[in-house]
Order: sequence, then structure tokens, then C-alpha cells
Amino acid sequence: MLHWKIARVHNIEGLHTFPHTKQYKPITTTGKGKLPGKSSNPQACYTKPLNISAIDGPRGTREVPTLQTESNIRFRPVSRSIKNLDSRSASEQEAATVSIRHPPSVIMLMKTAFFSLLALTAAVAVPQTDYDVIVIGGGPAGLSALSGVSRVRRTALLFDNQQYRNAPTREMHDVIGNDGTPPATFRGLAREQISKYDTAHFKNQTVESIVPLDGDFSAFTVTDDTGEKYTARKIVLGTGLRDMLPPTPGLREAFGKGIFWCPWCDGYEHRDQPFGIVADIASVLGAVLEIHTLNSDIIAFTNGTRTPEGEARAAAKVSDWEDQLKQWNVTIDNRMISSFERIQDGGKHRDNNEDKQYDKFLIHFTEGEPVERNAFLVDFPTDQTSTLPYEMGLEMDDRKIKVASSMRTNETGVFAIGDANTDGATNVPHAMFSGKRAAVYIHVEMSREESKSKVSKREGTISHSELEEEANNAIGDNLEREWKRALSQE
Ligand SMILES: Cc1cc2nc3c(=O)[nH]c(=O)nc-3n(C[C@H](O)[C@H](O)[C@H](O)COP(=O)(O)OP(=O)(O)OC[C@H]3O[C@@H](n4cnc5c(N)ncnc54)[C@H](O)[C@@H]3O)c2cc1C
Repeated sequence: MLHWKIARVHNIEGLHTFPHTKQYKPITTTGKGKLPGKSSNPQACYTKPLNISAIDGPRGTREVPTLQTESNIRFRPVSRSIKNLDSRSASEQEAATVSIRHPPSVIMLMKTAFFSLLALTAAVAVPQTDYDVIVIGGGPAGLSALSGVSRVRRTALLFDNQQYRNAPTREMHDVIGNDGTPPATFRGLAREQISKYDTAHFKNQTVESIVPLDGDFSAFTVTDDTGEKYTARKIVLGTGLRDMLPPTPGLREAFGKGIFWCPWCDGYEHRDQPFGIVADIASVLGAVLEIHTLNSDIIAFTNGTRTPEGEARAAAKVSDWEDQLKQWNVTIDNRMISSFERIQDGGKHRDNNEDKQYDKFLIHFTEGEPVERNAFLVDFPTDQTSTLPYEMGLEMDDRKIKVASSMRTNETGVFAIGDANTDGATNVPHAMFSGKRAAVYIHVEMSREESKSKVSKREGTISHSELEEEANNAIGDNLEREWKRALSQE
């Protein structure tokens, strides 16, 4: 009988020991979400139990008093848990068994019975958080995610510190329905439309940290730069990329206004004009192949990278790179670039009927005469705009947050969308697509959690991987997997 009771107690997740023989203390996660450089005591972040003030709507709308329940806090024994009994040495097991065999007092038996009853009745709790979802980033990715979750009445808060990657550009292009719309107008309209959903909220503030909370399902505390804390069950990072421009005088001021990195963004408005490519010698051919349908008068400015070593790198990519460049009439100027000087502003000198902007620059070198060109395609590296992905210890690939097709990161409950992720594209349509995709997954995943919590007892707690698989199935990739399986059997 006693052993039966012990078994039941084991099945209350978090009460992994026999109550009258052990001490308890709340679990504080140690490895998860380490924040290098953020706090002198990173574990302090985890010592606070989940905020379980039950809020049906967003913070400030319908707060109800804080309610502490057993199901929201997990415990572990200070000494070893009986759950691990079998892994102990024979002598340890014997010692433990002896301690269990102490005759229990009536009070102890009552306590045991209470916890046994709790095990039978306590459902796996869905964390009660300030918001269902917190989105960090107010670019097209974050806005799209916010729209997606708001349309199904998930409570959501979007943080935006207003550092948008396309802020320098005059107009946005290749975004159907919004071709030529200034990015700020586009974002303003998106905010206005999303604001009609009363579960959607905005805050123009910087997020300083995101810390996972312990529990059956994912939940997080988000702290902004005023020190205010918010909790949410899911996190969406739409924090974007920044262009790492060299400090060459005149470059940053002209970036996005005649000097651009993406033919689809600004190429058409500068078509058929004297054109320059600023790139490493090994990248020139790739740039020409992107732009040659728009411009034929092309000079490649390689800034001293045309060396024997540089040519070898180019040949390693495409063996006949030089012949191909000749066929496109591309000339190479290998002088060291010293500055860009704007001599005409295409924002003012433009033909809106013809969709043409007439920027004009002089590119200066450390020696010799400058060269005049109307526009330039440049090729510089990018990095995360935010340090959050690094601080959260998210898996990265070439400075991008690694995601699965669902936009999930390696941290359960954290999704990454838009430029910031490894999805392979950096443009507005992709940002919107990925935000929408994450929103669908998040809603399905949360609904599964909610549904399971209604029926699941502590015994047999549903795993995250099980939940995620269910979300995948609901979204339709089960058929894809069946198809692949069928093909592999042929
Ligand atoms: C000059 C230029 C012109 C471009 N033109 C085009 C174009 O014409 N068409 C096109 O399709 N693409 C264009 N792009 C690409 C486009 O800008 C990006 O693909 C797009 O902005 C990605 O959207 P995003 O939401 O992922 O990131 P972003 O738009 O960069 O948004 C990132 C968001 O995260 C926020 N953020 C970051 N960290 C924090 C934090 N800690 N707390 C709070 N908020 C935070 C930022 O403030 C911002 O709101 C252009 C890019 C550049 C550089």
C-alpha cells in the first residue's frame, strides 16, 4: 500500500520524492537560456517562479489577483529523488529503501493521500502569462506575425525600437500592392490595420532580455529598457539584420539612395544608366549576372582585391570568370576607393511616370582621377541587429538564427522570422511570409497545449516534441512526410 502511494507521488511531476522523508525547493533551471554578459548572476533570472497572475486579456486590461498553484511550480528534492532509485548503487538503494520503510505517522499518511489525490486531479497547467505572444520587431516580419496571431484573438505585444533595415531607402519595391510605397507608410498602415484587433498591442521600446521560465510548457519573461517585465508563452524574434558598411566617407549617407545592395529593391529605377559594382573580385561575376538585364555600361570597382590570390578565389568559384566578364563588357577598376561624392540627388531628379531616379556620384580613389557613375550595387556583410539571439544562446548559422521550416528555433517556444533567420531570403515578402508562418504554428501549438491541459493529468505529461509534431500535422506536413516515405520505398 505504502509503495503504491509512493508511486503515485512520483507521478506528480515536480514532487519526485516522498514528502515526509525529504526537503523540497523550487527548481531553478541552470543551463537553459544562459545570458552571457547580461548579469553577474545569470541563474538569478531563473529563481523567480512563473508569474501566475491569471490574466485573460493583456496586461492592464483584466488583471486578477495572483494565484499560486502547485501545478505551476516544479519542485525537486534537495537530496536525490526516489524517481532515480534504480540508477543508484545497491547500497544506496538499500539505504533509501530503509528510509522509506520508516513507519509513517498519521499526518504523514494524510499528506501522502493528499498528494496522491492531487496527482489524480491536477491537470498539466498552461502558464498564465501577461500575453500569449510577445513579438520583438516592428518591421514587416514582426507586423505580419502580430497580424496572424491577432486574427485568431491571441493576446500579443509587439516591441519596436524603430531601427528598420530599409529605413534609408526612398521607396519599397517588389512588394506587390505596395510597389513604390515608402517603408514608413507601409508600416504605419500595417499598424493602423492591426490596431483594430483589441488583443494586439504595441510598445516602442527596446527589449533587453528574454528569459525562459520553468514549467510544463514554454513561457518567458521579457524585460524592456525601462526595467518593466512582461510574461508570454511564445516569443517571436523579428529583430532583423544590419548592413555592416565600411566607414568610407559618403557611403552610409548614400546607402539606399543610389547606392544599393539588391537589384530588386532599387535596380529598375536606375536602369540603363552608367553603373558601378563595388565588390570583392570573386563576387563581381555574380553581381553582373544579377544586374545585366538592367544595366549594360558597367564598371566593377574591386578596391585592391584583384590580386593573384583574389583571382584564384574567383577562379575557384567560376573557372572562366574573366572571359564571362569580358562578354558582358564589364571593365575592372582595382584602385583603392577613398570616398563617394554625391553630385545629384535622385530623390529630386526623378521621372515618376517613367519610374526613373537620376542619382549621380563621383567615386574617388587614393590615386588618379575620380569616375562618375549614376548608381552602384554594393556587397557588404550583415549581422544581427539585436544581440538578443546571441544572448539567448540560440543556435546560429553564419550570423543568422537557425530555424526549421516552421520558423522554430532550437529554444522551445522561440520563433525567428524575417531577415534574422536562416530561411534563405532577406526581403519584405519573405519577412511577411515567415511572420505569417510562425503565427500559424504558434496558434496551433498553443491550442494543442491548451487542449492537452484540459485532459492530461500529471501522469504522462505531453512532451514538447509531441506538441510540435501535432502542430506540424495540423498544418499539413504529415502528407509531405508520407509522400517522401512512399518515394523512398520505391
Ligand atoms: C536600403 C535597403 C532597401 C531595401 N529595399 C527593399 C525593397 O525595396 N523591397 C524589399 O522587399 N526589401 C527591401 N529591403 C530588405 C528589407 O528591408 C528587409 O528584408 C526587411 O526589412 C526585413 O524585415 P524584418 O521585419 O525582418 O526586419 P526589419 O525591417 O529590419 O525590422 C527589425 C525590427 O526589429 C526591431 N528590433 C530589433 N531589436 C530590437 C529590440 N531589442 N527591441 C525592440 N525592437 C527591436 C527593430 O527596431 C525593427 O522594428 C531593403 C533593405 C535595405 C537595407
